[in-house]
Amino acid sequence: MTEVSERLNRLAESATLAMARMSRELKEEGYDIIALSLGEPDFDTPDFIKESAKKAIDDNFSHYTPVPGLLELREAICRKFKRDNNLDFTPNQIVCSTGAKQSLANLCLSLLNPKDEVLLPCPYWVSYVEIIKLAEGVSVEIPSTITTDFKVTPEQLEAAITPKTKLLMFSSPCNPSGTVYSKEELLAIAKMLEKYPDILIISDEIYEHINFTNAHFSIGTIPSMKERTITVNGLSKGFAMTGWRLGFIGAPLWIANACNKVQGQITSATCAIAQKAGETAMLADPKAVTTDMKNTFLRRRDMLLEKLKEIPGIKCNIPKGAFYIFPDVSYYFGKKDGDKTIENANDLCMYLLNKAHVALVSGAAFGNPECIRISYAAADDKLMEAAKRMKEKLAELK
Ligand code: PMP
Ligand code: GLU
Repeated sequence: MTEVSERLNRLAESATLAMARMSRELKEEGYDIIALSLGEPDFDTPDFIKESAKKAIDDNFSHYTPVPGLLELREAICRKFKRDNNLDFTPNQIVCSTGAKQSLANLCLSLLNPKDEVLLPCPYWVSYVEIIKLAEGVSVEIPSTITTDFKVTPEQLEAAITPKTKLLMFSSPCNPSGTVYSKEELLAIAKMLEKYPDILIISDEIYEHINFTNAHFSIGTIPSMKERTITVNGLSKGFAMTGWRLGFIGAPLWIANACNKVQGQITSATCAIAQKAGETAMLADPKAVTTDMKNTFLRRRDMLLEKLKEIPGIKCNIPKGAFYIFPDVSYYFGKKDGDKTIENANDLCMYLLNKAHVALVSGAAFGNPECIRISYAAADDKLMEAAKRMKEKLAELK
């Protein structure tokens, strides 16, 4: 019998998308599910961005674009990188893709040889490990816990370096912990990396505009890291444009060229209409677009943290960015739901889905199996109701 490839068999379904699928299915069966599993803003794309997409349709942006994206979009992204991040790129160093997810896949496929190692500070975004697997690389997880605000140190990273280490990949603000690495912390990591000139850095900054410290720092601005850093960003989060599928990188030219080669064989380029909308978004004052959303997320974070304090055994750090809370729930491991023991975060998530009808994601998929991820990109009343249901159902575990 014909079968799918071994490569596919090794690949796990995206845990975030799997939970979103399960909650959708339960909703279709008539259950009142509160879905806090998927990381996507519950805001609509700003009108002025939508208008430029409508105009792009009328102006017949209906053709293939250059593989890395329209020149005017890449010029706008260069301006954005300079304005917001103090990063200097020329348009030929920018590659736009079908979401930052494809940017990450292009990079791993372009850079990794089989068995090359990628340093992944925990917790990491779910898709990193699977994309690395697709590219036949090896993930090397650097553990962290809530006691250090889920941060890793240069010493921990250095201890994990081997002659096979090719990449360091991380997000700040971090999905799922909301952790933001400060300038000083990134300088210390960079200083350590100066001893290892062959290691490249993928800095995923997609939550840049949802940073409650108001101090986003790009590791690529450190002179010794400039030629080794790929800065990944996109419009999904800050601009509420998940469905438009537009992400991008700013990279050393040889890496941008490599990504173009991969992308040219896989998607050609991302959607021309989305690119014109993206150009408008990149030229706008980001504060004017993102401040209200950010303030709403901050208010919800505080409201939800207060509610979670009422639940015994739930330990939270204070996320400094993104829109997730990542509590340590290990207190509940070993407790029973009737005859069934809650062994781990996966079991706890399934229990909360089936009994409290609240969809969350297990920390196991992010490299921290003692945690669960709660997305607070949802309306206030939904968040309050979810916390209430969680409290009630967790109290029933014996
Ligand atoms: N990086 C991180 C850390 C994310 O949370 C996500 C999820 N949206 C992505 C990359 C990919 O985003 P997109 O493909 O929607 O641009
Ligand atoms: N990145 C979001 C999340 O972590 C969206 C889902 C996905 O692309 O996996 O939930």
